[in-house]
Amino acid sequence: MRVLVINSGSSSIKYQLLDPVSGAVAASGMVSRIGEPVEPGATTVEHESDGRTLEHDGPIPDHAAGFRVVFDLFARSGHDLTGEGLYAVGHRVVHGGEVFYRPTLIDDAVVASIDELSALAPLHNPANVIGIESARQLLPGVPQVAVFDTAFFHGLPDAAKTYAIDAKVAVTHGIRRYGFHGTSHEYVSGRVAELLGRDASAVNQIVLHLGNGASASAIRGGRAVDTSMGLTPLEGLVMGTRSGDIDPGIIAHLMRTADFDIDAIDQLLNRNSGLKGLSGVNDFRELQRLIDTGDHAASLAYEVYIHRLRRYIGAYLVELGEVDAITFTAGVGENSPQVRADALAGLTRFGIAVDPDRNTAKDRAARYISPPDAQIPVLVVPTNEELAIARAAATLVT
Ligand code: AMP
Repeated sequence: MRVLVINSGSSSIKYQLLDPVSGAVAASGMVSRIGEPVEPGATTVEHESDGRTLEHDGPIPDHAAGFRVVFDLFARSGHDLTGEGLYAVGHRVVHGGEVFYRPTLIDDAVVASIDELSALAPLHNPANVIGIESARQLLPGVPQVAVFDTAFFHGLPDAAKTYAIDAKVAVTHGIRRYGFHGTSHEYVSGRVAELLGRDASAVNQIVLHLGNGASASAIRGGRAVDTSMGLTPLEGLVMGTRSGDIDPGIIAHLMRTADFDIDAIDQLLNRNSGLKGLSGVNDFRELQRLIDTGDHAASLAYEVYIHRLRRYIGAYLVELGEVDAITFTAGVGENSPQVRADALAGLTRFGIAVDPDRNTAKDRAARYISPPDAQIPVLVVPTNEELAIARAAATLVT
């Protein structure tokens, strides 16, 4: 039994063919630079299967063309998707708005609703819809399931999801905190409960998803009670290229005094801020290299990143009151012992500590990094959104 998981972005398609039970990945790959001019011979599709990498060179004019290349590469690598054995297709969809709060079997009406939600996620939902439509055309007999990044946060308490702006404006325009990375927060928090040997309903926890995008969540008894991303994935922690929290007055100020229009604001906050805005680089490994060369801007970017992260950890400790685990996940969270140590430094009086040996151990598995006698366990748990989507899709079509 295999599920094809598709994450269709504005200029890329990431995909994985995997077994939702064992998690074994049969093939995976990525189409990049869709719709962009590329230099002759440039590789735009990389497909890995059974330890081999197949490549496709040359421009990919649109998503449908990208999917055709991918299907061809599947066939060449011995996995004919149009043949038997494909159980379902699971699509990552970024914004489910108020409408979708669980994995949903896709039909025409669902596609239309996801498209209507594009106003809330103009960079993401249109690309998700294109991915869904292409896959439906190419695999007409296979059930397709949408799994929403916002779903895990659908039940946020009113106090956590409400912005203190004119209530009529908020209601008219669907302005509330939705939260994102929900598939990751749900998957990781479930794994933490397993590792603690307790039912998820009996665990209060903080999950720190620190990747290129970054978000924190507070989870009480298996339900999210707060999260750092809001109406859009821009709010909250400092990210690779996104600012996270800022004084909203900055926007009016720049528009009034510096001739920024709304596109320039969008560009500034989504693409030219965060670590990149402060240091020139958005990749954490590059940031660390710059810091090692004594680059002050890079050091400041790191300090701002850690400062914001600690602020959220503090807030969620207080919100939850009783905390049973704090967990790091995603690219930075799984791989940077420095970030983990700095994020939780000086908190022993709150029962929180990171064990230096455990923290720096070269281990890729889910594990504890707090000392054995710690009051609040601290863990690293690799996220696996593809597996979570595959499982959700398989469960729905069973
Ligand atoms: P993600 O969005 O989860 O794929 O995470 C991407 C981020 O993780 C990038 O900023 C990477 O630089 C960072 N990352 C990946 N590996 C490492 C590592 N070994 N040390 C520090 N950061 C890393």
